[in-house]
Amino acid sequence: MVPRHVFVTGASRGIGQAVAKAFFALGDNVSTLDRQGVGPGIEDPRVAAWAGDLTSTDQIAEAFKQAEAKFGKVEVLIANAGIVKDQLLIRMTDQDFASVMDVNLTGTFRCVRRALTSMTPRRSGAIILIGSVVGSIGGTGQVNYAASKAALVGLARSVARETGGRGITANVIAPGFIETDMTAALPPATQETYRTRIPAARFGRVEDVAQAAVFLANAPYVNGAVIPVDGGLGMGH
Ligand code: NDP
Repeated sequence: MVPRHVFVTGASRGIGQAVAKAFFALGDNVSTLDRQGVGPGIEDPRVAAWAGDLTSTDQIAEAFKQAEAKFGKVEVLIANAGIVKDQLLIRMTDQDFASVMDVNLTGTFRCVRRALTSMTPRRSGAIILIGSVVGSIGGTGQVNYAASKAALVGLARSVARETGGRGITANVIAPGFIETDMTAALPPATQETYRTRIPAARFGRVEDVAQAAVFLANAPYVNGAVIPVDGGLGMGH
């Protein structure tokens, strides 16, 4: 297989790091983007880490420019980076709401728009957005986060309609509770409560999400879909 250029945001740890490792293992060239340019910790010429903040259109453009000078046009985008700023709605500030939207939704929009400038002339490409089960079932204290993740579904489906005829797919992966720094920070009692609601009776692993991303990058007739990776928590939604 000819190596693709796979661009993964937020791959310095957690799910993004596992996604970067999975595509690297397939033989692809992997670019990553995080604020410090830390990358996934893979020392290999086929992996390059770029620094950039998703809230900056210019920094995203610069990272893509450098990445494409090294590996050619981006063929697969995994828009994974995301943040939480949990707070009950009654106490949530405008800033708490806007900053989560700016990274999770607008940051994803900025990356997708840039990636499409490379994919559209080539008439192929795969755009994979990392949403969340919370986008469908909601989450206490997560009005900002849940709204941002639900919006990714509308974004992906609109892109699917706009670009499907050009051989480009846009899909969402909706992870449930995955063992990462994000979930490790939850109090043990909260973790246990969540676990009892998951039919699989355990949190997921980052590799579970990475395998879904690999599937979608190799599935040209799957478009506008939401793929749950949540142990059954959302019952397919
Ligand atoms: P982590 O917090 O472990 O990692 C987040 C990554 O995003 C880091 O690499 C971080 O790097 C990067 N990032 C954060 N803010 C920015 C920014 N402004 N610009 C560029 N990069 C940024 O997250 P997870 O691995 O747990 O989650 C990954 C994705 O999966 C997120 O979108 C999350 O919402 C989603 N998800 C996670 C679940 C879970 O259970 N863990 C469940 C459902 C969805 P740095 O901070 O160094 O810039």
